[in-house]
Amino acid sequence: MAFLSLKDVGKIYVSDGNVSVGIRGVNLSIELGEFVAVTGKSGSGKSTLLNVISGMDSYEEGELYIEGQSTSHYLQPEWEEYREKYISFIFQDYNIIESFTVLQNVELALLHISDKKERRARAKELICRVGLGSHMHHKGSKLSGGQKQRTVIARALAKDSPIILADEPTGNLDSATSKEIIDLLREVSKDKLLIVVTHNFEQVEACATRHIRVFDGAVESDHVITPPSPSQKSATVSAASDRKKERLREIRNGLTLGRSIFTSRPKLSIFLCLLMILGTMGIFLVTSLCGGAADVFKPNYMFTHIDGRLILTTRNGSVLSEEQVKELAEKYGAESYLRFDVLLDDFGNQIRFLYEKPETEIPPELDSSLPQVDPEFGIEFDYVYNPYEYVIANYTYGETFGNNILGRYPEAPNEVFLYLPISYQPTVGKDEILAPEIEMLGMTLKVTGVKYYYDNNLTPKCLFTEEGFRTATAICYLQNRSTMKMVFTITEASGEQRKYYPGSFVPSFDMPADKIYVKMAKVAQYKQDLAAADMKYTADLFLSSTYFRYDYFSDSGSNSITFERLFDNSYMTNDNPAPESKAQECVFISDEALREIAETVLNDSYRQVSLFFENDKAAYKAAKALQDDGYIAVPSDTTYTPDAMEAIMGVLLCLVMGGVWIVSLVFLAFFINLCSGRTLSSFKGDMAIMRSMGIPVKVIRIGMYVRMLIALIPAFLLVVATAVFIFTSPAFNEYFVYLYAWQYALIFLGMILLTVRITHKQIRKLFGESVKKSLRGGAAA
Ligand code: ADP
Ligand code: MG
Repeated sequence: MAFLSLKDVGKIYVSDGNVSVGIRGVNLSIELGEFVAVTGKSGSGKSTLLNVISGMDSYEEGELYIEGQSTSHYLQPEWEEYREKYISFIFQDYNIIESFTVLQNVELALLHISDKKERRARAKELICRVGLGSHMHHKGSKLSGGQKQRTVIARALAKDSPIILADEPTGNLDSATSKEIIDLLREVSKDKLLIVVTHNFEQVEACATRHIRVFDGAVESDHVITPPSPSQKSATVSAASDRKKERLREIRNGLTLGRSIFTSRPKLSIFLCLLMILGTMGIFLVTSLCGGAADVFKPNYMFTHIDGRLILTTRNGSVLSEEQVKELAEKYGAESYLRFDVLLDDFGNQIRFLYEKPETEIPPELDSSLPQVDPEFGIEFDYVYNPYEYVIANYTYGETFGNNILGRYPEAPNEVFLYLPISYQPTVGKDEILAPEIEMLGMTLKVTGVKYYYDNNLTPKCLFTEEGFRTATAICYLQNRSTMKMVFTITEASGEQRKYYPGSFVPSFDMPADKIYVKMAKVAQYKQDLAAADMKYTADLFLSSTYFRYDYFSDSGSNSITFERLFDNSYMTNDNPAPESKAQECVFISDEALREIAETVLNDSYRQVSLFFENDKAAYKAAKALQDDGYIAVPSDTTYTPDAMEAIMGVLLCLVMGGVWIVSLVFLAFFINLCSGRTLSSFKGDMAIMRSMGIPVKVIRIGMYVRMLIALIPAFLLVVATAVFIFTSPAFNEYFVYLYAWQYALIFLGMILLTVRITHKQIRKLFGESVKKSLRGGAAA
């Protein structure tokens, strides 16, 4: 059987209800080594014949045999394989990829050579062979018609397929160039099957071995000029190698192709990159801005949750002594414990940063309202504060933040170390500490050091010395759970008489432990009256503490203890500072005295302790064991107060934010789809050319995906750079929710999926049409 044979092949076109005959009843047997010239009037079916032979168009009647194999059962993939294996096609209007260089165009047909260098060398060799050596790196769009056709021939050679089909290859060329092209064709296809359609037989007469005339879709005459030499050996491609290798080759070729497509159209690629940058940045920013909404799902804990923290109390409401707590901690494997943990759950305290007094910045009204204390006590309140700067602080017991800190760790009870988000850097200082003092819980503390962090999901922390922590605990306890009163005990002839003055207590680290400094207008007035009446008196400070029982099994709801301590009253002020100002109604008291007062009461009444385990898991285990042993023990993250209204509002907020997030995502997807779809349409022609060259659709598809994915790379890099910039710069950190690596990974994955999905859709649209149809559309464009 002949290499290629057609038996009664017919092709009918149906369009707009009209039926027209392409070819009919065509019987041909053609061998390798033949140069077949096909001539005929316009519309006689020459192109149809070539298209059918090339497998770019289907046929309805008869049978086409290749190497004796019938093809009527072929579907799209088989035809692709057929084209890849057998066919090179040369068109009248050249059909090279205009945005590719000559070299790229030819290399495209050499994808079967896996070694890059070898491929390049072969492409160069072929280009030189068709006489385009000096135009190697010229873009297709810059070539003349003859040069384009030479490129196509080089490409056809590169493919090294046994059949070369040329449809009026010289139709658009002048006669001199035409002759060169035909000669070149003849020369390069000596042992191949060459079919040339032409309306000008004289041009090919010299080299054609056979002349077929077509008329009205049928073969009118078939005239052999010189019989083909029978010695020709088939140049068939070896049978498909194993599937896995094939697949790998496809992917490799797809990668090469994708890169070529991406780089061959720089403007379009830049546009695509910008589009991806917009999309990825958009998702990143929206996620980061909406990220806070997810916080509403964090339960509203009754206790501050610290990993591994367990809250313990007895069932009968008895107070646990220091020894008992220590024993329990050892027995149940706690790493540490905190007997008076009231400070841990006292959230919502504000820190106020105090600066040196810059003359110009003090509002006069504020200045006059500052407490002016006698210098002899050494407590000078010379500060301004910025009312907009505050932070919710968390207190950590015995934690350090490494050596890479600004300043030093605290050493005295009135010193504090701050662990703050980077956005506080301008407030607190970068190279030196700008805010030397803070006010917190009514204490003025010295800032000895600071460490900044970038992850703004974390809670800021204050680090104290142990004494400092106890002082803060004392103040927290006294402020929240007790009423402190100044009590005057007047001793006169008629006996003892008590006068009560409620006042706020200001802890002072400079006061001697046994003294208080009372600065109250009424007290001063009273003292003056007493002096005038020459009355003898003593001033006592009484603390009356009312506390709540944690034990809900006990019958008594609350219990009150009154603690009394007598202070030396020699520091009581005699003058009336400023009766109209309430701010000055205060009693200064030493930190030592405060600790002593608070701890005396706490020792007697505080029923809750915190144990700290390695992690929550260990805390849960210990809680179970302690419960079994008759204690009330709960890990700090298990008890929370459900607040219906807050929960509803939280869920609503989350829904709104989630809605915003989804809408922006959908919008971006839509936008990217729309814009990249436009760029895709300009590839239509190129895609069809590639297909006509026999590049498998799979490879083209992979190439398209690769091209789109390459466009994502700058977007990803830019997002990472932006994130680093935002979260490391004090000015921006606080406005975005810090995202973790896995969240970036998710965003990137989402973008990749989105891109793949969009590309998939567009490719489906692109390859839905037959090669011929899109080729016409593409070539016309
Ligand atoms: P030639 O190449 O010899 O000029 P063609 O093979 O292009 O002729 O066309 C043969 C016949 O088939 C013509 O009558 C033409 O109108 C018809 N034909 C070709 N392609 C199509 C098509 N895509 N749709 C409808 N009719 C077509
Ligand atoms: Mg034609």
